[in-house]
Amino acid sequence: MVERLTDLTIADALDLLNKKEISSVELTRAHLAEMEKARFLNVFITETPELALKQAEESDKKRLSGEKIGRLEGIPIANKDLYCTKGIRTTAASKILSDFVPPYESTVTQNLKNAGTVMLGKVNTDQFAMGGSTMTSYFGVTKNPWTDETGAYSLVPGGSSGGSAAAVAAGLCLGATGSDTGGSIRQPASFCGITGIKPTYGRCSRYGIVAFASSLDQAGPMARTVKDCALMLREMAGMDSHDSTVADLPVPDFTQFLGRDLKGKIIGIPKEYRSKDLNPMVAEVWDKGIRMIQNAGAETIEISLPHTKYALPVYYIIACAEASSNLSRYDGVRYTTRVPGKTLDEMYENTRTDGFGAEVIRRILLGTFVLSAGFYDAYYIRAQRVRRLIYNDFVEAFQKVDAILAPAAPTTALSYEAMKTMSPVDTYLGDVFTTPSSLAGVPSVALPIALAKNGLPVGLQVIGRHFEEQTVFQVAQALENEAHFVKTPHYVKG
Ligand code: GLN
Repeated sequence: MVERLTDLTIADALDLLNKKEISSVELTRAHLAEMEKARFLNVFITETPELALKQAEESDKKRLSGEKIGRLEGIPIANKDLYCTKGIRTTAASKILSDFVPPYESTVTQNLKNAGTVMLGKVNTDQFAMGGSTMTSYFGVTKNPWTDETGAYSLVPGGSSGGSAAAVAAGLCLGATGSDTGGSIRQPASFCGITGIKPTYGRCSRYGIVAFASSLDQAGPMARTVKDCALMLREMAGMDSHDSTVADLPVPDFTQFLGRDLKGKIIGIPKEYRSKDLNPMVAEVWDKGIRMIQNAGAETIEISLPHTKYALPVYYIIACAEASSNLSRYDGVRYTTRVPGKTLDEMYENTRTDGFGAEVIRRILLGTFVLSAGFYDAYYIRAQRVRRLIYNDFVEAFQKVDAILAPAAPTTALSYEAMKTMSPVDTYLGDVFTTPSSLAGVPSVALPIALAKNGLPVGLQVIGRHFEEQTVFQVAQALENEAHFVKTPHYVKG
């Protein structure tokens, strides 16, 4: 029995709720109290305590009356502030949407509501999900609940889903939604010592998620265990008439292969990921992970993903191109704060200059440039061609292996100070291991394996075939069982 309700896994909390040993109201109150204590971490942009308690009360009533309940009935979660929530402010961590109250709900958050979850609030992210640290948020940075050697809260939680990762790691919710365009679930999961999955592109609806790069954006869960992510994803995923890119496939029970051993499974170790960007402390944990997966009964072989080195430039060309088009809707006429001007053009200019942060403007400029006449063929079309080669690398590799094991990020969590001195391009290098699988659209789960020599968590990714999340979860859970990662950040200890 765990001592604190905020340390539970979703699976265990459901068990206690169903046995009526705890109520959702108790569970929700425990999290609200923790959120208050942890305000210094700046995790939430908007807290919704009244709504949470109301939902928890309704949930308890349902359970007691014997009514049909949802599969996540009474579980308190947090939503990344990129998901539109009806009647609740949704900012994308930007100034331009800082007072936007959506008149509709995103499909994924609606699905989670239908499953009986309780929403504690909306958590921080990089602005429009552009970044890897939450430092581009208009609402200030989120602090990683893990401290540095001196005990100071000086580290970034990663990003863009840094608020979601910090919330789970600090015990402020049992699970959270994230989104991943080029690594935004997996890198913060690694930096904060939690688990998260970017599902196959097309597994979850993007309807109502503030768009960044539509051919890459994908919703996914972040939680403490592989099983919890599988439980959440089952509710989040599925067909939606509002989004034509969702696959018309049944949503399987993602927990169905959990607990099976890995006999006969072949796991690929991509040699190109042993690059100069890989920090030796992270490489050591990767080697540990390889031994763990072998202990779990799998065979490992070296594989090649030859176009890996092109993934970063290809990603930044395609993501920026799509962002420049998606963000053209913020014009001061429709749903945004308006800054007047003498002419219509001047009003657009004033609104967008005032409303977007520096990183967002940089990407709009870059994206507009690569799509402009004269450069379109040289950059955008060429990037699309190379994207196909990267996709082919994975398809070919998966003829030989069942899954791929690789680091999620080249380093452990960096400090704000270190990040401030880095150029934008230097910060983009942190996405070197996550962008290839994003471009290929394959599912990938990141889970914590061990602490690096500097005392900070390191996560590895298990990447699988399109729409084979069950296998990815199975392999990841076997690794989780070997890793016994139960370390908690200083914040929770204190
Ligand atoms: N860090 C990457 C970027 O800045 C990925 C962001 C994401 O996945 N949303 O674009």
